[in-house]
Amino acid sequence: MLGSTGSIGTQTLQIAEEFPEQFRVVALTASRNLTLLIEQIQRHHPEVVALADESLLPELQQRLDALTLDQSSASWRQPQLVGGPDGLNVAASWDSADLVVTGIVGCAGLLPTLAAIRAGKDLALANKETLIAAAPVVLPELKRSGSRLLPADSEHSAIFQCLQGTPWAENARLSTGIPTPGLRHIQLTASGGAFRDWDAKDLVKATVADATSHPNWSMGRKITVDSATLMNKGLEVIEAHYLFGIDYDQIEIVIHPQSIIHSMIELADSSVLAQLGWPDMKLPILYCLSWPKRLETPWRRLDLTEVGQLTFKAPDTSKYPCMQLAYAAGRAGGTMPAVLNAANEEAVAQFLEERIHFLDIPDVIEAACERHKPDLQANPNLDDVLSVDAWSRRAVQEQISKGTRRMPLAASKG
Ligand code: NAD
Ligand code: MG
Repeated sequence: MLGSTGSIGTQTLQIAEEFPEQFRVVALTASRNLTLLIEQIQRHHPEVVALADESLLPELQQRLDALTLDQSSASWRQPQLVGGPDGLNVAASWDSADLVVTGIVGCAGLLPTLAAIRAGKDLALANKETLIAAAPVVLPELKRSGSRLLPADSEHSAIFQCLQGTPWAENARLSTGIPTPGLRHIQLTASGGAFRDWDAKDLVKATVADATSHPNWSMGRKITVDSATLMNKGLEVIEAHYLFGIDYDQIEIVIHPQSIIHSMIELADSSVLAQLGWPDMKLPILYCLSWPKRLETPWRRLDLTEVGQLTFKAPDTSKYPCMQLAYAAGRAGGTMPAVLNAANEEAVAQFLEERIHFLDIPDVIEAACERHKPDLQANPNLDDVLSVDAWSRRAVQEQISKGTRRMPLAASKG
């Protein structure tokens, strides 16, 4: 489990606890949350634990030593502890793991994901930024290793589940950018995020607290802000393009405030298939872990009479410019999605620190993508991706240090 202390990580571990006969957790990675990590170590007894922030390793060791002394039970065995980027790679390629759930947030997940692929592990992909930034590197690696890429993102899981019911289930099984014949359109549903009921003109008043409260899903802070800008949906368009080998012209976004339909596919004969469920990430995560089987769960049944109505509308592109930025970056291809993704990560981080205004986010991303145009590389290798990722973050920082269009407004709000 990469990123065990996050929203995806904790939900994956809950599933492991619910199905002890099926799943055993052998490796955990986290960044800094030692208290939660230690609790997880005590519950799951992993063989290895990697800490991204290496400086905290001695403290983790001490706290585990103290626990070992305290515990009378001899069955408690300490995991091997590793740290830093190499440590994450060790955990990601751990011998006894069959499948790696990628729950790290951002492009920080790229190198451990590649380590897992190179070790031949199947992947449950939650960390979409990795595929978006580095598909030209990740997809050929998948082909070489034969690892399977199972989508954990709820929309892509819905598409993947619908594809199982088509004659091209074999393509869906691979899910590595190979076009699926007869798949005519994908409709990605979007809740509309925190500001879906706000007038565009009121967004000048948007605060960090407003942007980090999602109406339907409980998720990490970065993806919650991405949902508020709809960049999350834009990133998911690129993710769908790479996962299912479908053109950008054939991927549509539909606002569906109830988040009950998780996405739809339209087939050659015009039939539309959809997957429905309560907005709960445990189901798409479980499907990655159980695929191609389905496990019996006691989870709450979907009751459409309780939901009452399912509604849909077209997204407002002027209110949500990030969507169009993502389509443009996806169509440009090569290194452009990596620039878009890194600029977005940096912009969101700066917004969460209240150094830029919510409305500055698309501005600074667009500027980074514009600046990158003359340097775009169509077939980047890993070094190219890592270097444009670093460049794009610097470009955003530079721009912010010179001041942004909206910041005086945000500052005047106190
Ligand atoms: P989160 O912030 O809750 O958790 C992130 C995890 O990554 C934590 O365990 C943290 O310790 C670890 N981490 C953070 N920075 C790191 C670094 N530099 N190196 C190593 N580890 C680091 O995030 P989340 O909401 O669980 O999202 C994780 C990923 O899953 C994201 O890519 C997100 O887009 C995707 N995703 C999440 C959801 C959801 O419901 N939360 C849904 C779909 C997709
Ligand atoms: Mg999603």
